[in-house]
Amino acid sequence: MSTAKRGKVRVENGRYRLDGQFHFPYPNEPIRNEDGELMGVTNPRDLTHVHMYGGEAPFFEGLGQGKLLGTRCDSQNCDANGSIFIPFRIHCPDCLGKNTIVDMTETAKKGATVHTFMITERTGAFNTLPKPIRFVNVEFEGVPTILMGYLSVGEPEIGMKVVPIFNTTKPSYTILDLSWVPEGTNESEILEGFTFG
Ligand SMILES: [Zn+2]
Repeated sequence: MSTAKRGKVRVENGRYRLDGQFHFPYPNEPIRNEDGELMGVTNPRDLTHVHMYGGEAPFFEGLGQGKLLGTRCDSQNCDANGSIFIPFRIHCPDCLGKNTIVDMTETAKKGATVHTFMITERTGAFNTLPKPIRFVNVEFEGVPTILMGYLSVGEPEIGMKVVPIFNTTKPSYTILDLSWVPEGTNESEILEGFTFG
């Protein structure tokens, strides 16, 4: 690997400042058949993807602080006025006005239910969750939308009560910082580094 510094990004005065190298190529390797004939090459690459969160940044920051943030339309003339959205929507889908951020942690702790679930043994590239992954669609009292998440203790069932846990010890600042466990789960059983918030 090159000795160049791996790329880092910071923002100064509203502008992105990129520093270092974001793409590391490695030498190609031949792909051959049993007779030694050339069939192709492998192209090893190592790249740093820059993913900007924009208006969703407070949601991801909140997870590491043990908070589940949603949003609410407060536009007086909108039919969706007062509707709370989780997943976090920056804008109201009805009036396109900017939503107000609301802390839904307590609601989630009291009234989250598994609407449905899906268990998968096969995952995409760079998956870091242990398999099988127990995806749950979580429903909240008074919220018209459903949040996708993963159950990290026990087996999912439709209608089961779940509570959120958060990676507050060493946040990754991604959706993986939020997981779900059955109501009544003991703190000693939950994922390492996670807390009830
Ligand atoms: Zn609206």
